[in-house]
Amino acid sequence: MISVDSIDTIDPESPEAAGFYCDRPEAFTVRMSEPSTPMPSIVCTDVTQRYDDEDGLFGSGGRTVTALDAVSLAVDSGEVVGIAGPSGSGKSTLLHVLAGLATPTEGRVEIRGTDLATLSRRHRTRFRRTNVGMVFQRFHLLPALTASENVALPLVQEGVPRGRRRDRAWELLDAVGLADRRDHRPGSLSGGEQQRVAIARALAADPAVVIADEPTGELDRETGERVLDRLTEISDDRAVVIASHDTHALERTDRVVRLLDGKRQ
Ligand code: ADP
Repeated sequence: MISVDSIDTIDPESPEAAGFYCDRPEAFTVRMSEPSTPMPSIVCTDVTQRYDDEDGLFGSGGRTVTALDAVSLAVDSGEVVGIAGPSGSGKSTLLHVLAGLATPTEGRVEIRGTDLATLSRRHRTRFRRTNVGMVFQRFHLLPALTASENVALPLVQEGVPRGRRRDRAWELLDAVGLADRRDHRPGSLSGGEQQRVAIARALAADPAVVIADEPTGELDRETGERVLDRLTEISDDRAVVIASHDTHALERTDRVVRLLDGKRQ
């Protein structure tokens, strides 16, 4: 079984580890105790992402695919922005680029004033893990860990002491209505409960940016509503970006950015 103290066994580039690493414990302390200053949390300028689909695996017949075509977008702290568009329009690619999980072919992405391209891969990974919380559609929880341990995982490499990690995990699980499920492993939680654990985990390091890919995609209406309540509540002092097909989820955002064939409409 994986222990929360053996996080080194987790691939640092895996989705499970996204947002989990920080070698600046002071960043955590500052963000926990001081409200963030209002500023554009995300500025993405003329971002183009091309893929060379040489093997034709993505249906392009071996051509270059332009997944994003000169997309610009700014998201302020305190805003919830929806990303809409049909399948293949570039939503996931945009989320990955905004989160620093992918480097665009052209254009610039700044998170809280830092141009991600100026950071080495290692520093970008660290920066992302301090500043960006990701909520994946398929949760990516570690099955061997309890809900509480999954939520606390981002804090392990931040050097946060065990007791404080546990308190933070319990507080976050309480906030998403899962106080009585904290010792359950993902396998004994419903889809909606797992999604709420994933949201709590994304918030553990108190990131300034939260990016959610189809957060209600696998949920019934009522559970989806609660997840959206939580995602909009947390936007008070952070930027939240939600990609979704769900009209209702998009209605809950402050504004919607539409993509079609990689272009902003
Ligand atoms: P969406 O999330 O809106 O469904 P994506 O961002 O996943 O759209 O994909 C946008 C386009 O880029 C699609 O045409 C897709 O096939 C293509 N694409 C995505 N990832 C890759 C990749 N790794 N290699 C080649 N093409 C890709």
